[in-house]
Amino acid sequence: MNFDLHKHQPACLTDEIASYIDGELDLKREQVLEAHLADCDHCRGELNRQRMFLCSLNASLKNEGELDLPPDFAKRIVANAESTVSGLRRPRERFNALFICAGLFLFALFALGAGAMNFFEGVYNIFDQITAVVGFFGHLVYSVFLGVAIVLRSLSSQFRIDSVITVALTAVFMMLALFISRKMLRTRRA
Ligand SMILES: [Zn+2]
Repeated sequence: MNFDLHKHQPACLTDEIASYIDGELDLKREQVLEAHLADCDHCRGELNRQRMFLCSLNASLKNEGELDLPPDFAKRIVANAESTVSGLRRPRERFNALFICAGLFLFALFALGAGAMNFFEGVYNIFDQITAVVGFFGHLVYSVFLGVAIVLRSLSSQFRIDSVITVALTAVFMMLALFISRKMLRTRRA
């Protein structure tokens, strides 16, 4: 019944608080807002939040570089990058990288040669092909498994990110080996 005890609260003026802090309101708007702030917990809270935000913003801008970045920030970034490509640190892993680079080199060599090889591919009979395939297959399987074994063994001590890399490298290596063996078969015939 006593509705008059609850004075009608005019709509909140939250949108004007920022302008108020910046001193951009004209006198009349300022007085209206201040009267409202005296009455409204919500808007007083908002005013405090915005003032505190501005304070901490100013503080961090003033001390830029000291507060935001930890002193070893750059060092951490580098360490992170190094551990991501950790395949190059230990001797065993260096060998591994060398192994893969050699594979890629061979791949490039044979890929470049492929265009020229095609000219020399004459008529060949199916038996020559089969003999070559069978002869090379044994060697290929041996090479592939040896390579995969080396990659797996050299990475087996680190199983976090590296297990993913191992799988990827193994797949790449097997594709390389298959591709190279095909090119070599053609080279032999030429
Ligand atoms: Zn309000």
